[in-house]
Amino acid sequence: MEKILFIANTESDGSLSKIALEVLGSAIELAGKLEGSTLSVGLFGTSIQEAANSIADCGAASFSGVEGEDFADSRYCSDIAAVSELIGKSEATLVLAPANIRISRVLPGAAVRCNGKIDSRISRLSAEGGKVTAQRWFYRQRMTGSFSRDTRPWIMSMDAGSSEAVPTSSGTAHVDMLSVALSDDQKKTKVLGTESPSTNAQTIKPDANILFVAGAGWTKKQADGQIHAEEAEKHILGFLEKAKASLGSSKSLVDQGSEGEAVLGFMSHLNQIGQTGASPRHQKGLATCCHGEEPHVIGWRFINERRAVNADANCGWAQGKADVLYVADAFEVMTKVNELL
Ligand SMILES: Cc1cc2nc3c(=O)[nH]c(=O)nc-3n(C[C@H](O)[C@H](O)[C@H](O)COP(=O)(O)OP(=O)(O)OC[C@H]3O[C@@H](n4cnc5c(N)ncnc54)[C@H](O)[C@@H]3O)c2cc1C
Repeated sequence: MEKILFIANTESDGSLSKIALEVLGSAIELAGKLEGSTLSVGLFGTSIQEAANSIADCGAASFSGVEGEDFADSRYCSDIAAVSELIGKSEATLVLAPANIRISRVLPGAAVRCNGKIDSRISRLSAEGGKVTAQRWFYRQRMTGSFSRDTRPWIMSMDAGSSEAVPTSSGTAHVDMLSVALSDDQKKTKVLGTESPSTNAQTIKPDANILFVAGAGWTKKQADGQIHAEEAEKHILGFLEKAKASLGSSKSLVDQGSEGEAVLGFMSHLNQIGQTGASPRHQKGLATCCHGEEPHVIGWRFINERRAVNADANCGWAQGKADVLYVADAFEVMTKVNELL
């Protein structure tokens, strides 16, 4: 009989993140497929009662938690102590947790402390005849693989999108608070604040409906022989604001700064989409002044509807990589689009 434990940290406002609620959804589905299994919830953070109450009706048989100021921030020593305690006390055979930065840092260490095995970034779980199968992407999301393990506890961090997020409600969860004592040594790392890698890092919005991708063409010489980087910035930022879009970039555009070429000030390597960049998930994508080379387009794997604006009718997007290609000057198109918006 499998004992499933869902683990998550609470956010700074005391809530559970979207990815955490998606992983809880996967845990509930898995419990439903494994006859005789039980589901429990383990939370950690500054104060966890509110988060526990928000999922009180999820069907979990029990709730446990580790809370306090010592667990407010992501810190290896305190987080691993909390996670190991939650896993150990629950005697879980299967542990599912969101693959966020905070948990991904400590889960492998916790797996070692609990004599378990870990697999990271699982995208889907299934169960048949009592056997659990995990699925994940390999080789930068070009191949998927399915596998199973006999070792218990089997600990898995799960990627975003593994299931629908469980709707939150306002029940009352009875939480068994565990006490985790930390030595001064375990508390010597202090988080003094957070700094964004770029002042405009908020251009990356994973939950936006639309992804706007800018390519190197925006900063190349145009038909009049001039570069119009300032105008490009205006069009791009205007669209982002009006369409509430997330901003992506091609590698060429974000590399330009280090090569001494014209750059867009709000763009950083964090925006890069592609083989060596990110593979975001959005309903729609619009690529502008970007050629649509394969190493870039591979990052569009999870974008459902793709459109591109390119002056070149033979660009990569025209080779079956976009649903709609507008062969046009992106400066003109975006002027009109922003006007309409
Ligand atoms: C191992 C490897 C990994 C890589 N990983 C990545 C990756 O993760 N992400 C990534 O992006 N790339 C990656 N690349 C690089 C990739 O192959 C391309 O070189 C890069 O994506 C090209 O960027 P671009 O399309 O912005 O620029 P360009 O190729 O310079 O294209 C600019 C485009 O803008 C168009 N244009 C110019 N002006 C206008 C205008 N006014 N209106 C409309 N269109 C206009 C031009 O027609 C042209 O098609 C990788 C390459 C390798 C070898």
